[in-house]
Amino acid sequence: LTTEQFWDTARRHLIRYNRAGFVPAIIERANGAHLYDETGRSIIDFTSGQMSSLLGHSHPAIVEAVSESIATLDHLFSGMLSQPVVGLAAALARTLPAPLTRTMILSTGGESNEAAIKMAKLYTGKHEIVAFDQSYHGSTHASGAATYCLSRSGYGPVAPGNLIIPTPNSYRSAFRKDGEHDWQAELDFGFAMVDRQSVGSLAAFIAEPILSTGGIIEPPDGYFAALRKKCDERGMLLIIDEAQTGLCRTGDWYAFQRDGIVPDILTLSKTLGAGLPVSAVVTNDEVEATCSDRHFMFTTTHVSDPLAAAVGLTVVRTLEEGQFDVTARRLGEQLRRGLLDLQARHDRIGDVRGRGLLQGIELVMDRETKEPADDYGTQVTAACFELGLHLNIAQLPGVNSILRLAPPLTITEEDLDAGLAILDQALTIALD
Ligand code: PMP
Repeated sequence: LTTEQFWDTARRHLIRYNRAGFVPAIIERANGAHLYDETGRSIIDFTSGQMSSLLGHSHPAIVEAVSESIATLDHLFSGMLSQPVVGLAAALARTLPAPLTRTMILSTGGESNEAAIKMAKLYTGKHEIVAFDQSYHGSTHASGAATYCLSRSGYGPVAPGNLIIPTPNSYRSAFRKDGEHDWQAELDFGFAMVDRQSVGSLAAFIAEPILSTGGIIEPPDGYFAALRKKCDERGMLLIIDEAQTGLCRTGDWYAFQRDGIVPDILTLSKTLGAGLPVSAVVTNDEVEATCSDRHFMFTTTHVSDPLAAAVGLTVVRTLEEGQFDVTARRLGEQLRRGLLDLQARHDRIGDVRGRGLLQGIELVMDRETKEPADDYGTQVTAACFELGLHLNIAQLPGVNSILRLAPPLTITEEDLDAGLAILDQALTIALD
């Protein structure tokens, strides 16, 4: 198809599934941290695909794993096991703190959260699920019901029993006074609301350790330990969703490790497949045994898929062999230095936050009032794309001014600096 025919055909035959619309380029090839459009132009990928291509595009180890698996063992009956499935379960147990030793392999993030929520309900015999008001856990029914930023309009009735607490957002928190963020009061307030609204059936709290889609929000030190305590006091399970943060991206194997807690259920997705649809639910013996006794049933066409598991296993091994947690910390420091330098020169950068290779900048009209600079954010990302850098804005209602920077862990220092230089130019160009 010519470029004109391509867009004409797309307009006539595709379902438009996202509010932001499609990026106006035809990407023909992707390799490492680079995308190449129909004109051969190179674009640095600061979104790692959909935050998923952790090792860069078409990493040789992944290409080999897929080629070998598709040629020898592609797909099986859902109740059949294979070496890659058991191998991935053991590999994840090796990288995780005890007692997170039991794994189930699925395809997508929403699906892994559906399974985790069902397990929590079965284990506790209760049904209410609590989440942060800015978290994102998926677009499927139960994961979407725990995702308050997704519009409910037109999709009712939504799964009942979903409650929220305020995201501990120190940048704009109402609990921030004189530069101090009283997160304990914010958490107590949230749980006072939960206790008042609950019908006495609290099953689980589901949380991202760093909220990504909601605007790169990192709850303060000590917060998750206090949240864990609130869950324990109420007999609720804690589900941690590391779709984006898991597997070295933030500088630790798992972001929750920084918080000194261990969840009852962990979900992994995006980064586990490094660009392919692979997800996992991990839990402990006790939750697994109780669910199994109660006839836990969550089969999908691709549960325990050998191809997906072979990819996941390759990702874990590649990260282990390359010590990518160290790499993410090193590149994360370079990224942070670059972003702080930009903040020193561009008044519209109100805040810089995040960890490792998951960082964000919040654009404001005025650093004192923190008024969001929504249109400016859109203009900056458009200018970046023109200049050869793809990054994106947190797409949620009310947070259109946060730029997310999450390049692959295999990006070179030169490409990271080149991306930052483009962002620098774009921040100036977009002012005109
Ligand atoms: N959890 C988190 C934290 C995510 O960021 C996402 C995707 N943005 C999901 C779950 C849903 O994953 P998927 O799109 O693969 O269903």
